[in-house]
Amino acid sequence: MAKARGRSFSQFYTPALEGRATRMLMQEQMLRNAVERGEFELHYQPQTLIQSGELAGFEALVRWKHPHRGLVSPNEFIGFAENRGLIAAVDRWVLNQACRQAKTWQDDGYLPVPVAVNLSAQEFRQRDVVQEVAQVLDDTGLDARYLHIEITETTLMLSGTHMQQTLHALKSLGVGLAIDDFGTGYSSLAYLRKHPIDRLKIDRSFVSDLPHNPDAAAIVNAIVQMGQSLHLEILAEGVESPEQLHMLRQMGCAMMQGFLVSAPMPADRAAAWMSQHCQMLQRQ
Ligand code: C2E
Ligand code: MG
Ligand code: MG
Ligand code: MG
Repeated sequence: MAKARGRSFSQFYTPALEGRATRMLMQEQMLRNAVERGEFELHYQPQTLIQSGELAGFEALVRWKHPHRGLVSPNEFIGFAENRGLIAAVDRWVLNQACRQAKTWQDDGYLPVPVAVNLSAQEFRQRDVVQEVAQVLDDTGLDARYLHIEITETTLMLSGTHMQQTLHALKSLGVGLAIDDFGTGYSSLAYLRKHPIDRLKIDRSFVSDLPHNPDAAAIVNAIVQMGQSLHLEILAEGVESPEQLHMLRQMGCAMMQGFLVSAPMPADRAAAWMSQHCQMLQRQ
């Protein structure tokens, strides 16, 4: 019966679909509420120097404190938030919170290191990012050099935005700029000359195929070499094994981030980690 009817509206509008649409709307409403109430939490993952093991910074990674599901990982809601036009509001909360936390740590006497924040394409499309970043730095009292902004190649390629002016203006504020997930985007390398980039973060997909996959090794090595010639900092993300670290060290890669050193941690654990790690370095 249903088969014979063709693709009519009534066929689409099954109770199951209605259920799905309702769930999506509820989900969207929950996310809106979360944005209004700031029901998120930041976890911080250390970024370290490969040669010395020294702490070089933290990346702030958002989690949603979901009323029914506990802490929800960004992979599960960032895409949804992007589709619903909510990601810029999430990013703004993250930016504020991360800068506040970095300043608090400095005031508490911890070694001052930059905090890195991920900004989505929407943030660049919808808002005056430069004004917003300047405002947050002013509000929190964090010195601009202790803020790094991570954007993907796709964001960088946005047409219709004044990306070049925007990045130069951010740079003039004194913040650091990193390209995230480097090597996975569809883009030309010409932007490395055009934009004032400080750092490339080699995507985890290449790092996780080290040390045995020769193609991954060739790509990582090429990125490290290029970084050295262009005076860019190179950070390898997703380093999980001592073998991967060993290979990266031999290639001359300067920085790393990954479970081998630490997974992302809530702020209190990150502070405890800093105390312990910095003491360990002093003892060495
Ligand atoms: P990303 O910026 O590339 O962040 C790195 C992700 O890799 C994090 O996942 C981190 O937990 C994970 N990771 C780090 N080391 C390892 C490792 O050794 N092994 C493995 N398997 N994974 C590792 P997370 O926290 O789930 O974040 C996923 C993505 O969500 C981020 O990728 C970023 O693109 C996005 N994201 C996170 N926070 C924000 C935010 O505040 N705003 C926006 N727009 N996006 C965010
Ligand atoms: Mg990132
Ligand atoms: Mg990344
Ligand atoms: Mg990634």
